[in-house]
Amino acid sequence: MLKRLQMSRLLLPFVAAAFCAGAAAPARAQIDTGNGPLPVFEFHSGFWLNLHHTLYYAGRQQFLAAQGNVNASATPPLLAGLPEAELRPWKEAVAYYAANFVAKDLLFATDLIQLKDQLGDFEDCSDLSGTRQKFCNAGLDPKLTRLLETAAPVYRAHLWPVHDKANRRWVFAVAPLVRSQSVGLSHRLSDIYQTHWPRYRIRVDMTAYANWAGAYTTVDPLRVTISSTDPGNQGNVALEVLFHEASHGIAEPVEQAIIRECRQRDKAIPRDLWHALVFYTTGEVIRPIMARAAAAQAQSGDGAPAEPYQPYAVRGGLYSRGWLRYHELLAQFWQPYLDNSETFDDAIARMVSAL
Ligand SMILES: [Zn+2]
Repeated sequence: MLKRLQMSRLLLPFVAAAFCAGAAAPARAQIDTGNGPLPVFEFHSGFWLNLHHTLYYAGRQQFLAAQGNVNASATPPLLAGLPEAELRPWKEAVAYYAANFVAKDLLFATDLIQLKDQLGDFEDCSDLSGTRQKFCNAGLDPKLTRLLETAAPVYRAHLWPVHDKANRRWVFAVAPLVRSQSVGLSHRLSDIYQTHWPRYRIRVDMTAYANWAGAYTTVDPLRVTISSTDPGNQGNVALEVLFHEASHGIAEPVEQAIIRECRQRDKAIPRDLWHALVFYTTGEVIRPIMARAAAAQAQSGDGAPAEPYQPYAVRGGLYSRGWLRYHELLAQFWQPYLDNSETFDDAIARMVSAL
């Protein structure tokens, strides 16, 4: 499987080049916001990855409906009322996802991660079996290949235009801040985590549906998936969502330091403290940037005055839903490190001591 994955990467430039040569090629999956490439991130809106996540979502809805959840519906409203013949391949694919995938977590299941990465690699292919172009054979399980290809027309006709538009709209809205702020933010965050930011641009796959959290990140290769329609990802929090997810690729030193300090003190390793720290850090680093952006907007009189910035974890109630103690520890012991009045090691040590 690993070999096949590597092979697909090697073929990617040829896939892209061949597809571009086609006269009827739709918009490229890699999003171009104009004025040259954006720094730090590379955004994609890929057909197969969006189909995959939509089927996972619909399969999950089918699973919940079977459990008696009356609010769950496996057929998206935009597909309701279509003739049965057109819907049949869609339903067949949803049933396959419900039976084989939805009990697994998109973030942790190795086969789902590999499938996601492969579908991303073949995003510019019009099929996955290599029927039209040999190098488009993605090497997936033949049954899954058939199901994805037969569900593709109904998805392409009725859902994909809406999903692709939402993906591109999300990227275009955040692009000015990515262009002006992301290099500085990448330096700041890698300094904080005492590591190096990746030398390549981090791939961000935009999808209508992501996982239950609205966004997730997988490593080796480092790839971020963000839902463009999740209510939690809308508005001025978009830049923070991006840098929170990217931080998953570089925050390992902090997780290791917490584990080390706990072992030295013979303490249980606190579940999710490192994750609360990543939320806190990204929120605090982004807050002044958003305050300056809001002030500039107010000065220019361009649009309604912006609301004071609320970090994602505050706005989403993450601290109040079980991380209140973590928030106290972070404010007391980690914030001084962010303010340069404490060292990394001492901040972690004090936080773990106070647990
Ligand atoms: Zn996270």
